[in-house]
Amino acid sequence: MQDSQVAVGLDIGTTSTKAVVFGKGGVILGKHAVDYPLIHPQPAWAEQEPEQILQAVIDSIRHALRKANASQDQVLAVGMSCAMHSLILLDRDAKPITRSIIWADNRSVRQAEKIKTEWDGHQIYLRTGTPIHPMSPLTKILWFKEERPDLFAKAAKFVSIKEYVVYRLFGQFVVDESLASATGLFHLQNRQWDEKVLQQLGIRSEQLSTIVPTTHVLTGLHEHLAIQMGLRSDTKFVMGASDGVLANLGVGAIEDGEIAVTIGTSGAIRTVTDRPRTDEKGRTFCYALTDRHWVIGGPTNNGGILLRWLRDEFAAPEIEVARKLGIDPYDLIIQYAEKVPAGSEGLLFLPFLSGERAPYWNANARGVFFGIGMHHKREHFIRAVLEGVIFSILSVGVALHDLVGPAKDIRASGGFAKSPTWRQILSDVMGRELLVPESHEASALGAAALALYALGEMKELKEVKDWIRISHRHQPHIENTEVYMEMFYMYERVYHKLKDEFELLAKFQTEGRF
Ligand code: ADP
Repeated sequence: MQDSQVAVGLDIGTTSTKAVVFGKGGVILGKHAVDYPLIHPQPAWAEQEPEQILQAVIDSIRHALRKANASQDQVLAVGMSCAMHSLILLDRDAKPITRSIIWADNRSVRQAEKIKTEWDGHQIYLRTGTPIHPMSPLTKILWFKEERPDLFAKAAKFVSIKEYVVYRLFGQFVVDESLASATGLFHLQNRQWDEKVLQQLGIRSEQLSTIVPTTHVLTGLHEHLAIQMGLRSDTKFVMGASDGVLANLGVGAIEDGEIAVTIGTSGAIRTVTDRPRTDEKGRTFCYALTDRHWVIGGPTNNGGILLRWLRDEFAAPEIEVARKLGIDPYDLIIQYAEKVPAGSEGLLFLPFLSGERAPYWNANARGVFFGIGMHHKREHFIRAVLEGVIFSILSVGVALHDLVGPAKDIRASGGFAKSPTWRQILSDVMGRELLVPESHEASALGAAALALYALGEMKELKEVKDWIRISHRHQPHIENTEVYMEMFYMYERVYHKLKDEFELLAKFQTEGRF
């Protein structure tokens, strides 16, 4: 990459599409985000308008280039990242007959259950690497077949929002191996659509896009759209991957034992391995980054949202004080937690307020404070919540350890990383050094880096580390790690002991009786 050249990372996310213009050495020269609404036609549904997203792609690229003061001749490539699991049905003229149904849509709960119990869902997971869950296109397509047979019959194609955007820009139906591997329809070993599951579903591979590597270069951008984006029509677009696996690349967690932990509203922990690996116990996902890099890990529902819950429900006095002092109430709340030693003097918290995805995949799980004594004060409860969120990350970390061995270090990102105390808890619980990369645009950075790798401008993906500056480092305090190991032992025991009770209680919470 020459000094004057730029690479654009395009990140089609859940709430917005962002374009980030990177110069030599990964310097951000300009960026622009365009938001779009989530549509909830029914309570559990979550949809978006495909055309709005296409427009956001066009506008974000144009504005980002303008802000970066970069001309179309400087653009070496555009690399694409996209949120996983979306589904759009297209008719024979390639016109959408549905909106884009996104990962958060839960309409297909019943279909997920059916696939698990009647289709031997575990075998499908072992072949495809996608947990059987209403998020996946597999369960969503089955929902259409059972609930909207009219639309199912009319659907000539089943695509994701990324494929739709690529089709509109280039006139081709292609999907990268990464997004394909998050559909529940992709055979990890053959790297083709899984014929068996397609048969069970009653669809043909012609109804899906052609699978290409994540390094595939697209050319032939439609002239009129190129002009709208401020690009030349021969600009190279690199297919790229999903936002999750690109976030690993974007924080530099790309070699053996390097773990990426994100705790924003929800949480996730992921690592890279050189071949596809699924878990006998079904705890983790496996998604492609390149043919030699596969990302395994798991999402948790209960991340920073729990600190928000504490703040909103229990911290009115702190909110008031913080307002007067002009500081963030989160900082005040966390100061309480600092008064208490690691392990919250035996107060344990299971953070499953929103049910749990990995590793238990149990929507009926609920939050628990366990071991409350008269000696426990407000600060113990706050600390226990911070620790409980981290235990849920460790519980997926244990699955990763079983699959690929011990972690070397951890790269942390997301809103929680603003707190030095919470970061230290993560380092202590995991017993590993923790690094906080500076970049707040991990997926876009990963997309731009993968594009350069595809063009041979980066020889190895790990060169991305030269782009990433580390803002904080934490070493684990081993005496705390020992305490946390004891508490985590109890965390797992309490979860397993309460499994049946969670079922019962969830019934009571929805139906008013046991
Ligand atoms: P999203 O996943 O929606 O992008 P963020 O990455 O911004 O969200 O994370 C939001 C979460 O970050 C909040 O719910 C809160 O738990 C946490 N957070 C935000 N600010 C702080 C802070 N100063 N200290 C600790 N945690 C914080």
